[in-house]
Amino acid sequence: MTDGSSIENAQEFSFKAETKQLLNILIHSLYKDREVFLRELLSNASDALNRLRFEMVTNQNVLDSAAELNIRIKVDKDSRMLTIQDTGIGMTREDVIENLGTIAQSGARKFLDAAKDSKVDLTQVIGQFGVGFYSVFMVADWVRVTSRSFNPQAEAVTWYATGEDHYQIGRADMSERGTRIEIKLKEDAAEFAEEYRLKNIIHKHSDYIGFPIYLGDGKDAVNKQTSLWRTSKQEVTEEQYKEFYRQTTLDFEDALTHIHISTDAPVQLYALLYVPSKAERGMFSLRKEDGLKLYSRNILIDEYNKDLLPEYLRFVQGVVDSEDLPLNVSRETVQSSGLMPKLKKVLTNQAIRELESLAKNNAEKYQTFWQEFGAYLKQGVASAPQETENINPLLRFKTNLNPETWSSLDDYAARMKLGQKEIFYIVGEDPKSVLRSPHLDYFHSQGTEVLLLTDPMDSFMLMGLHKYKDFELKNVSSAEVDATQKPKEQTETEKIPDADFNSLIERFKQVLGGRVTDVRASNRLYQSIARLADADDTVNPELQRVYRFLGKEYEIPKKILELNPSHGVLKNLLKLETGSELQNIIIEQIYDSALLVEGLHPDPSSMASRVQQIIEAALAGKA
Ligand code: ADP
Ligand code: MG
Repeated sequence: MTDGSSIENAQEFSFKAETKQLLNILIHSLYKDREVFLRELLSNASDALNRLRFEMVTNQNVLDSAAELNIRIKVDKDSRMLTIQDTGIGMTREDVIENLGTIAQSGARKFLDAAKDSKVDLTQVIGQFGVGFYSVFMVADWVRVTSRSFNPQAEAVTWYATGEDHYQIGRADMSERGTRIEIKLKEDAAEFAEEYRLKNIIHKHSDYIGFPIYLGDGKDAVNKQTSLWRTSKQEVTEEQYKEFYRQTTLDFEDALTHIHISTDAPVQLYALLYVPSKAERGMFSLRKEDGLKLYSRNILIDEYNKDLLPEYLRFVQGVVDSEDLPLNVSRETVQSSGLMPKLKKVLTNQAIRELESLAKNNAEKYQTFWQEFGAYLKQGVASAPQETENINPLLRFKTNLNPETWSSLDDYAARMKLGQKEIFYIVGEDPKSVLRSPHLDYFHSQGTEVLLLTDPMDSFMLMGLHKYKDFELKNVSSAEVDATQKPKEQTETEKIPDADFNSLIERFKQVLGGRVTDVRASNRLYQSIARLADADDTVNPELQRVYRFLGKEYEIPKKILELNPSHGVLKNLLKLETGSELQNIIIEQIYDSALLVEGLHPDPSSMASRVQQIIEAALAGKA
């Protein structure tokens, strides 16, 4: 027995290395927010009460089964003692060793990592590493935990530590169920023996604990006792919404928006959902998976429920609580009760409504949202065709005429030209190069707007996006155009005479052989030499791209090569000796370049040596 021991017949244990380091930091650093220790202890008490309530759903054999589920705090100013006692699940001797002595290892290690990052406010995060209990050592000279398990056979146990290397465990006299934590406050922490101070802290951090917290001999709870999501919107401040988000996710960036729902029909439901401002979870994020926290009447029954929102909204964070869920449910029965689809429907609709109103009322935030989460919605279009009516209005695009801003399909439709019946799009590799695509020649010349689809997800999206309102979506590469409508400023350049052009087409066919299905003249190319067009019976040209992105083997699709009969390059090509090597490699290069702008070239670097040959020829003045 060491000196200063406050337990008789105690057994002494040593903290593990990481825990020692952690305690050392907590004891010797100065924190301005030391008060959060109370939040941590109350949160543990609340957890213990919740667990007991859950136990009592199925187990009648519980010690003090009639005792009120509550927390009582007492202070003694003169001796600087603070005592917090709950009637929760309690701990056995093994529990105490495991929970207060050893188990926090991995959490302690992570906490120590976080402590190295000066940007992280440790008092904000300590609870998240499963080491919240130890925060008491910011204010304590010593701590004594006495506990009696709900199990009537278990014996009471007591734990004592000063924050040094050791803790002690011994037997205790405690007849009632629950846990009592006695804290001898440090001299400079005497403020925490003042009731008014404690009351303040509770209001600030722990108002929503779902069990009454009594102070002194008071008969009225000092906390509101209802969870934030069950509190009416009018009573919740912006700051409280933010704090709740921080506490549940540990995301230090504010959410983009929150959705607070309370309805009675068609299902009873409370929910508090958030759209984060980043798709990527932060290093310290509490949420290891997607999914919402599901409560039934304030009791947590699922930490990561994935059935409450469709896949494409899986980035949404938050809490759902329903009185209609039966209480003694296993996760499996939750699934099979017909309630989940109903909850999902309400939540999905509300989330979509919220995004719509964000788009309408805060364009800047919506742009952030789109850049972070647009890919999810595109996936939704591809995978949930029955919901595209909801999702389509949320989509945003860059276009050839508005390449710097994001336009909705409604914006596009509003700017359509008189008589335009289709929404045109072009698929390409990146926003810059796609603007140079030969497929756009005609549309540029007419001033027609075209959506630029250059994100890998766009090809997937197209699998589900065929129509918006009355307008079919049409790929410019296969769109029919009225080529008699020449642009005004374009003076008719002289065409290669038909006979010459036909012999050129023959040359192309010979060189390219089976790689193209046909070679023919095009009347819709202005700036470009050539373009690859789909044969009219090609199914789903987008799929070719999807395969490429998936890294699947694919054959270069055979297309029709269309040539611009007015282009200077082709005129000069005709002047080269028929069948000469230079003519052949230039034909090859024209085909390869066309593949390249289509984003279909399987191996662009293979062109390097040929390009070099062409450069040499040009320099030699032969070309
Ligand atoms: P966390 O709460 O994240 O698990 P803590 O360090 O706050 O981490 O607490 C460690 C563990 O100690 C808890 O998980 C719980 O098992 C136990 N514990 C702490 N306080 C109590 C209490 N009042 N009643 C019962 N068990 C408790
Ligand atoms: Mg805790």
